[in-house]
Amino acid sequence: MAISRREFLKRTGVAAAGLTVASIGGLDVKPVQARVNSIKLNAKKGKQYPSVCPYCAIGCGMIITSDEQTGKVINIEGNPDSPVNLGSLCPKGAAAFQLVENPHRQTKVMYRAPGAKEWQAKPLDWAMEQVAKRVKETRDKYFVETYEGKKVNMNPAIASLGGATMENEWNYIWLKLMRNLGVVNLENQARI
Ligand code: SF4
Repeated sequence: MAISRREFLKRTGVAAAGLTVASIGGLDVKPVQARVNSIKLNAKKGKQYPSVCPYCAIGCGMIITSDEQTGKVINIEGNPDSPVNLGSLCPKGAAAFQLVENPHRQTKVMYRAPGAKEWQAKPLDWAMEQVAKRVKETRDKYFVETYEGKKVNMNPAIASLGGATMENEWNYIWLKLMRNLGVVNLENQARI
């Protein structure tokens, strides 16, 4: 049944007022709240594993559910037993399932060669090789061992800007890799 915006606001206003009256009037809504908290929004059958959100240092608890037959991850949601988040997740953590399964994930890159007008679709592996090749060339060409008589072992020709979807472990490894290349211009979008 379609309802108008005005009607919708009227009804939700009445519902909100009803809840307020219930609280003021001494009605005990705790059992209802407890029941709501225990309902898993995306409950799916399978083997469940407690885990921790990989994204940020808050460390919200998660439950990862996998299909018992195939072992495939079928759901990720907040762990209500975690004292950190009591079952809730921020939008980023709530979308963690898409780390595993995402039909929209890009599997090709668009490449336009120097001087060319046309873009070409190239596989990711090809793109990775190109990036690695250019990083190596740039590192070898611009690495600075000493500056004004002091050992600096740095590479001012490469900068790294990470995205907020990089999780803790990835950031850790990335930092090690960049420091090994002598990169000093290192930043992450989550910190900016
Ligand atoms: S769910 Fe959000 S707040 Fe919690 S650890 Fe993950 S990214 Fe951080």
